[in-house]
Amino acid sequence: MSSMRKTTSALAVLGLGIVTAGLGTAVPAAAAPVAEQPHAGFVAKSDTSATTSADSDARAFFQAVLASVAEKRAENPSAAAAVTVVYDASRAPTFRTQIARSTQIWNSSVSNVKLQSGSASAADFSYREGNDSRGSYASTDGRGNGYIFLDYRQNQQYDSTRVTAHETGHVLGLPDHYSGPCGELMSGGGPGPSCTNANPNAAERARVDRLWAGGLAAAMDKALEKSAR
Ligand SMILES: [Zn+2]
Repeated sequence: MSSMRKTTSALAVLGLGIVTAGLGTAVPAAAAPVAEQPHAGFVAKSDTSATTSADSDARAFFQAVLASVAEKRAENPSAAAAVTVVYDASRAPTFRTQIARSTQIWNSSVSNVKLQSGSASAADFSYREGNDSRGSYASTDGRGNGYIFLDYRQNQQYDSTRVTAHETGHVLGLPDHYSGPCGELMSGGGPGPSCTNANPNAAERARVDRLWAGGLAAAMDKALEKSAR
């Protein structure tokens, strides 16, 4: 089965990328994340000495999600062609409503990939909550597990559904674009706290569907092309 081989080799390459991205992250992610840990925030990084760009951080997170989905599909080759990304929301109980709404928004906006709630053991990524001076972000824990962190204060300052749907956009492969208008979901905190739009615009929806158009293998190929750039 050549498609199996391809997925396996792509997974190996993705694994390398994750290991590289996770270097220097000795602190468990459940504790206060270290500053050098790659993370794609809801707002632009204020620390100008940051060694990684928001783009590459979003990519590292996306690759971790893809690797998890690929691993499960390798175990179950008869899985349906449509890609389902499973999340665990049990560690972000405060944001249960916003997470459900974000799922609803994305599942009604794109057709080639679907989000689905599941148990921690079945999840490709998780939502977590707490206090972090950097606000909300998508990151990996240094062991290849992707998670979305939702910061209490930022979710009071900004529209919480927009924050959640924005971070979930990284799960589906979208990078940040802070200079965009409120109508863009991936502009995040760029348009300010008065922006309450939680829906991706037409271009963002089309981009996600293009990315996942050929199923998982194609999405992985595209993610690898980007990281090779
Ligand atoms: Zn972001």
